[in-house]
Amino acid sequence: MSTPKLPDAPKPLPAEVFDSHCHLDIMVGNRQASSGDPVAQAAQAARTSVEGILDEARAVGVTRLVTIGYDLPSSRWNAETAALHADVYAGVAIHPNEAHASTPETLAEIERLARLPHVRAVGETGLDYYRDWASKEDQHASFRAHIEIAKRTGKALVIHDREAHDDVLRVLAEEGAPDVVVFHSFSGDAEMAKRCVTAGYFMSFSGPVTYKNAAYLREAARVAPRELMLVETDAPYLPPTPHRGKPNAPYLIPLTLRCLAEVKETDLAELAGAVSANGETVFGSW
Ligand SMILES: [Zn+2]
Repeated sequence: MSTPKLPDAPKPLPAEVFDSHCHLDIMVGNRQASSGDPVAQAAQAARTSVEGILDEARAVGVTRLVTIGYDLPSSRWNAETAALHADVYAGVAIHPNEAHASTPETLAEIERLARLPHVRAVGETGLDYYRDWASKEDQHASFRAHIEIAKRTGKALVIHDREAHDDVLRVLAEEGAPDVVVFHSFSGDAEMAKRCVTAGYFMSFSGPVTYKNAAYLREAARVAPRELMLVETDAPYLPPTPHRGKPNAPYLIPLTLRCLAEVKETDLAELAGAVSANGETVFGSW
C-alpha cells in the first residue's frame, strides 16, 4: 500500500491555540483501524508517533491538545499518553456507540482514570441516534452514569450528540449538568446554539463548519458567544475544506479557526486568544 498523501500544512496562526478534541490513539495506530474505517487506515499508514503529530501542530501554532477516549482500552492509552506529554490532556469515557460496554466495572475504572491529574474530561459520552450500534436504553444509562462521574470528579463533560439534541439537553437537565459541559463537534443549528448559550454549555466547532453545505453550522457559530467557543479537529476524522476524504490532524486547526473568524467577523489572533482562555476554563491550566 503506498503512503497516502497528507494535506499540506496551512499558514501558521498569529497566536497559539489548542485542539479540544482528537483521537491520538486512532491516529498513531494504537488500535489497528478496521477495514470499514478507511480514514483511520490512511492516518495510521501516514504517521507513527505522538511526537510527530505534536511537532507538526506546534509548527502552525497549535501547541496543545486533548486526546479523547471512546472505550476502556482507548481511555487507558489516552490517560497514559497525557501523563507522558506536557502539552497533552486526556478525556476518558465509553462512547455512546459502545454503551453496551458500560458495566459497573468499566464505569468504576473510567472514574478511577478520570481522577488522574492529566485527565481533564469525562468524554466522549452522550447520545447517538444516527448509529444503532448500542440500544437507546444502554446509551441513556451510560450517559447518565458519565454525567455523575463528571460531577463527582469535577472534570468537564465532553458530549457526543448525533441527531439527539433534544434528549441530550433533557437528560442533562434531569440529572443536573456538571459545572462544565462541552458539545464536541457541535452539530446543531442557530436554535440549538441559543439553547446551549442559555444553559452555559460550550460549543466546540470542527471541520464541518467549513463545509459548503453546512451553512447552519456557520449560523450557529455566529450565535455562539466567543466565551463559549472551542475549536477541535476530531482527528483523524472530519478534515476541514479543502481536505475532505483525507486524514485529519491537529495541524489543520488553523483552517477551521480562520473560517470561524470570518464567520464572526473577528480578528483571528483575538479569536485564538479567546478560545485558548476558554480552554483553561474548561480543562484547567496546562
Ligand atoms: Zn471524537
